[in-house]
Amino acid sequence: MKIVTIGTGMAAAEFVDVLRKEGSQDEIVMLGNEPFPPYSPCVIPFFLAGEPLTTVYWKGESFYRNKGVTALLDSAVAEVDAKRHRVRLSNGRTENYDRLFFATGARSWYPQPQWLETNGVFGFKTLTDMLAIDDYIREHATRRVVVFGGGFIGVDAALALWHRGLEVILVHRNTRLLSQMTDEDGGVFATRKLREITGIDVRLKTTVTDIDIRDGALRGVKMSNGDSVETTMLIVAIGVSPNSEPLVGNDRGVVVDETLRYDPHIYVAGDVAVTPHALTGEPAIYATYPNAMLQARTAVRHLLHGDATYNGSINTNVLKKHIDFPIISAGTFEGDPVTWQNQHLFRRVYLQNGKINGYQLIGDTRVSGYIYNLYCAQVRVDKIIAPILADNRGDSYYRSLMGFNQGQLG
Ligand SMILES: Cc1cc2nc3c(=O)[nH]c(=O)nc-3n(C[C@H](O)[C@H](O)[C@H](O)COP(=O)(O)OP(=O)(O)OC[C@H]3O[C@@H](n4cnc5c(N)ncnc54)[C@H](O)[C@@H]3O)c2cc1C
Repeated sequence: MKIVTIGTGMAAAEFVDVLRKEGSQDEIVMLGNEPFPPYSPCVIPFFLAGEPLTTVYWKGESFYRNKGVTALLDSAVAEVDAKRHRVRLSNGRTENYDRLFFATGARSWYPQPQWLETNGVFGFKTLTDMLAIDDYIREHATRRVVVFGGGFIGVDAALALWHRGLEVILVHRNTRLLSQMTDEDGGVFATRKLREITGIDVRLKTTVTDIDIRDGALRGVKMSNGDSVETTMLIVAIGVSPNSEPLVGNDRGVVVDETLRYDPHIYVAGDVAVTPHALTGEPAIYATYPNAMLQARTAVRHLLHGDATYNGSINTNVLKKHIDFPIISAGTFEGDPVTWQNQHLFRRVYLQNGKINGYQLIGDTRVSGYIYNLYCAQVRVDKIIAPILADNRGDSYYRSLMGFNQGQLG
């Protein structure tokens, strides 16, 4: 059997890795539109913050050789012909498959794509972006950067570049940073603490409306509040769209069945897959690394043994990078809030029928594994939750209480 992956990212690399570990001797071809070994987008900001490049290659730099796969890199797949079991690349080449693993992830979304033609304007999504940003900072001795977008990736970018020693101005249209992973109170608390800890200049309720270009290079940005800022570097991180066009002809993601298949020969996983939420059943793209891993492993089990089903995704977000101030959330912020906070920490759980509907834990991770498991288990916690939120015992206490390690489901 010939197995083809579209994408060499986290889902595809895990899929191939597990296939080989499970003993598959099948011919495997991996197609990717970048020239690299599989890398982890979660880790690439650390490279920009000063870590060695090798750390991003989470499966090793010799992955393709070690796994005995043919890698066709640096060429995008333009189209999947599902009827003929054939993939067409933008360089004209075609590849036939018996089974296809479609894991093309997502790309940055730009309000003004033409800005990217300007020297000094970058996305913050791929290793190609990181290498270009790194080169640019070195060549131009860049001292100031404007980051446009204060969601998960924008904050990650701002913290990485702050860690690198740049003066960072972070522009976000909402009333608080991380507005999709916090409620108003939690987001305002997190924004204040991030400002205090880093000194990053956060401009809220503001967008970048125009850029000032001289001789083809960026010289400054204009903002919706009338401010102008001189800068030679702008990072645009205001959203992503799934790379689903080659398979379904639009960028709304690929809806899969409970075996993660689009059709009997095509598995889909990662940031391009529309899957149900494990607890609510709501279909959406749940674009995190743990979901991509679970989907890749489920697809392998189904392909090799035919008996696996995917139980759904969890929308946990964990921002735990560059500074000692983690921000963790999951679920929906609806129901009865139970809050505990002090000067440094903010912990809030939303209850519905006594069960956890969503939560935010800002400033430390001590209760995070325990709360995550209570959330996944959907047990009543209304009588016990307040003292748990107020408890300051360490991770190990909660792990011993659960009888298993943090992050596992009960
Ligand atoms: C800066 C950043 C930080 C992140 N931090 C975290 C974090 O801390 N925790 C977390 O859980 N998640 C994080 N994520 C999200 C996480 O990286 C993704 O959920 C995960 O990588 C999804 O895996 P994937 O295989 O679907 O996509 P990717 O890993 O993005 O891989 C997609 C692959 O498809 C290829 N591709 C795309 N289009 C084509 C085409 N037409 N033809 C050929 N190849 C194509 C790409 O080159 C790539 O190889 C972060 C993402 C970014 C960008």
